[in-house]
Amino acid sequence: SKGKIITVVGSGLIGRSWAMVFLSGGYRVKIYDNQPGQASRAIAEIRKQVEELQEAQMLRGNLSASEQLSQLSSHDDLSQALEGAFFVQECVFEELQAKQTVFQAVENHVGEDTILSSSTSCLMPSNVSSLVQNPKRCLISHPVNPPYYVRLVELVPLPATLPTAMEMAFELMKEVGQAPVRLRREIDGFALNRVQYAIIAECWRLVKDNVISVKDIDLVMSEGLGMRYAFIGPIETMHLNAPNGLEDYLGRYREGMRRVLSSFGPTPEFDGEAATRINKEICEFIPSDQENLSARRERRDQLLMRLARLKK
Ligand code: NAD
Repeated sequence: SKGKIITVVGSGLIGRSWAMVFLSGGYRVKIYDNQPGQASRAIAEIRKQVEELQEAQMLRGNLSASEQLSQLSSHDDLSQALEGAFFVQECVFEELQAKQTVFQAVENHVGEDTILSSSTSCLMPSNVSSLVQNPKRCLISHPVNPPYYVRLVELVPLPATLPTAMEMAFELMKEVGQAPVRLRREIDGFALNRVQYAIIAECWRLVKDNVISVKDIDLVMSEGLGMRYAFIGPIETMHLNAPNGLEDYLGRYREGMRRVLSSFGPTPEFDGEAATRINKEICEFIPSDQENLSARRERRDQLLMRLARLKK
């Protein structure tokens, strides 16, 4: 990684986190933002965070905070920011047109082999890259917030993506300490949000139908399922939960799973009376003013940091 350059386009929440992840892997990171002054504000913020992480002995990678920060620069000029980059991580607003225009502009300033990677959470890879002339090197690297502690990255190809581009992104993500997974083809929501939305939908229906309170359904995850899901996934869970493994599990629970699953209701609308009531219930223990929300976010990040340490 020594001396190799990664350009981060868009320096908001996710752009800053990606920059910190790549710095920790020893890369030179150039940050560009189209809001003048925004990229330099971002590096001031990164500097503060990297120093705090060092203080807390939570800094990732083998380099010190000052070694990492010496590899970081901010640019208000796109062509300057892209000079020498072998990998570009786009992190602009989640708007199709903005991303399409950004990739079109980026392509004019980089070589044929530079990988063009998008952070999009829910846009389709082939739409995001539709204005790119040479889409063989385009893909999605979808992080989970905050990527510094939650290491999963979903790599999603578009139909044109070369396997070597996917391979390269996979190796890069591993090298910088992330946990990459590969989807074999693009699908709406990728894998993480499809699973997440399935969970949200059933939690919503149970509260909406007055089966359980908001507080208790959240405990079902945080004190129950979530305890093991931090370490083993649902398929391994099945494999371990019957004396003789997955087939044994299916023999015992297949019918019950089918019965319960067939009783699930339709896709919730997430509005109307149910939304008002659920919002009121969550705000009773976490009021939605900035002070309370920030305190809970800080608590979440602290706990995630400790969990990340435990998982190491
Ligand atoms: P954000 O609003 O915090 O930051 C966006 C940044 O992009 C801003 O600094 C803005 O000035 C800049 N920008 C906008 N248009 C630009 C352009 N044309 N050229 C250069 N810079 C431009 O947003 P975010 O939360 O960091 O999200 C960025 C991307 O990451 C989105 O696609 C989002 O879906 C994805 N993502 C977000 C999360 C999350 O939880 N926030 C998680 C995974 C993925």
